[in-house]
Amino acid sequence: MSEEIEKTKCLIIGSGPAGYTAAIYAARADLKPIIYQGLQPGGQLTITTEVDNFPGYPNGVHGVAMMEDLKKQAERFGTDVRWGVVSKVDFSAKPYEITIDETKRILADSVIIATGATAKWLGLESEKKYNGFGVSACALCDGFFYKGQDIAIVGGGDTAAEEATYLAKLCKKVYMIVRRDELRASKAMQHKVANTPNIEMLWNHTTKEIIGDKAVNGVIVQNTKTGIETKIDITGFFVAIGHKPNSEVFKDQLELDKNGYIITKPNSTKTNIDGVFAAGDVQDHLYRQAVTAAGSGCMAAIEAERYLSTI
Ligand code: NDP
Repeated sequence: MSEEIEKTKCLIIGSGPAGYTAAIYAARADLKPIIYQGLQPGGQLTITTEVDNFPGYPNGVHGVAMMEDLKKQAERFGTDVRWGVVSKVDFSAKPYEITIDETKRILADSVIIATGATAKWLGLESEKKYNGFGVSACALCDGFFYKGQDIAIVGGGDTAAEEATYLAKLCKKVYMIVRRDELRASKAMQHKVANTPNIEMLWNHTTKEIIGDKAVNGVIVQNTKTGIETKIDITGFFVAIGHKPNSEVFKDQLELDKNGYIITKPNSTKTNIDGVFAAGDVQDHLYRQAVTAAGSGCMAAIEAERYLSTI
């Protein structure tokens, strides 16, 4: 017996701020969107604590609560929110065929991809233990909590350099832990870091362990040349060793850049395939904020609606 294939006008993949905002707009436009939540329902914000920079929450909001609010708002207008992970897509013919959890097949006239990105972590046990209690992968989100304090940031790319200089404005001292004797960051960012007096470079250092009690109060670093271990007193530990866009499943179907981000047309969420749109962190390595993701989710829904009216 062959399984009946479900059809939809608008399929949204991913349930962070981009996915839910796309759903709110698509549902209000009567597209009756179906959203598959993916591996981490609610997205990256569900692994942070307080969100203080999303407009509309004067007293801040817990990341999990905010994503629950977005979900309810999407459901209020009739979004069909489902559990499930996309395991395969076929954008070679219209309508597009999407397979969920390797079994269920859906035919969609338009697809909005909002699968986000995943911060890379060092892989230390202590990093997991103190996540949200002094360990963070987002300086812009959490830097404010460490005003006037000493913190450390690990990484040597543009993100680490940018975040280190951002944190240096807020914090008393920033230790930058770099595993080689040079930064990968652009020359301009290297100069900026070098000209920031309260950034101390720890060249050729790796992180052995993050230490603390209820929250972080130090880090043990090791000099890779001498083997000498040093304990540094800090209250915040930022990891900025890169992000990985969650685009693996689309790699043979869509144009991606060299780092795996989905390429969208300028000032648009259009991908190289007609009717397939990408919003949020899976196509944005520059801003990576909840509010910018939400904004691009809105754009994707509007573009999907316009596209659907032409087919
Ligand atoms: P990158 O991959 O460029 O850099 C990652 C950094 O983390 C490297 O210095 C790397 O070290 C280090 N690293 C990786 N793994 C570990 C580890 N396990 N332990 C210690 N250190 C580690 O990532 P970014 O997020 O910085 O940048 C991603 C892309 O986005 C880049 O193309 C960048 O140019 C771009 N970008 C542009 C910005 C802008 O234009 N304003 C702002 C931010 C990012 P090593 O060098 O030794 O490999």
